[in-house]
Amino acid sequence: MEVQIVQRVLKMNDELAAEVRQLLEAHDVTAVNMMSAPGSGKTSLLERTIQALGEAHDSTPLRIGVIEGDPDTSLDAERIQPLGVPVVQINTSGSCHLEANLVKRALASLPLDDLDVVIVENVGNMVCPVSFDLGESARVAVLSVTEGDDKPAKYAGIFRTANAVILNKVDLLPYVDFDLDRFKTFLGRVNDHAPLFMMSCKTGEGLEMWLSWLRGHLAEIRRS
Ligand code: MG
Ligand code: ZN
Repeated sequence: MEVQIVQRVLKMNDELAAEVRQLLEAHDVTAVNMMSAPGSGKTSLLERTIQALGEAHDSTPLRIGVIEGDPDTSLDAERIQPLGVPVVQINTSGSCHLEANLVKRALASLPLDDLDVVIVENVGNMVCPVSFDLGESARVAVLSVTEGDDKPAKYAGIFRTANAVILNKVDLLPYVDFDLDRFKTFLGRVNDHAPLFMMSCKTGEGLEMWLSWLRGHLAEIRRS
């Protein structure tokens, strides 16, 4: 019985995700679903990304909007707002993942015609956000080195479905027992195609690689 209910919820979510995808396509916008445990640095990465894009004097600026998912507060949206990009906060009222209906509603508050990419910061959770398609064209899994090198083995789903993997807080590697080779071995077993970006939102290491991946992804989506 319970299994049937779960399947029905997921089916409904898939239908709404398809609607989100259509809406985004109609405005030539693509969405990236950013997933991780709480505290791995998703919001810091967004801050860094927005700042770097603002400083890049590009002939074709990458215009991003942000959807922040959190169970209870608007603290993350308040961090993004001063950076001058459109941001919408979703509160899930305690729920541990975003669903497509919430994203669809949030998109109504974003100026889609003025955007190229919407980055959706999912609720900090490594398990159930994986099951919910939000209408994104790519998923990014973020892990910080303080969380341990065994996570791709323990939480295979989030890494398996990722189109890019970000290992954050690499500036802390000398101080923590994080075995990079072990991590890469575990990651390779569940995902052998997603690029891995060694990132430090503190020092800015890895930021350029990530930005060029983001630009490349957008270009690829627009070609197809
Ligand atoms: Mg956050
Ligand atoms: Zn959940």
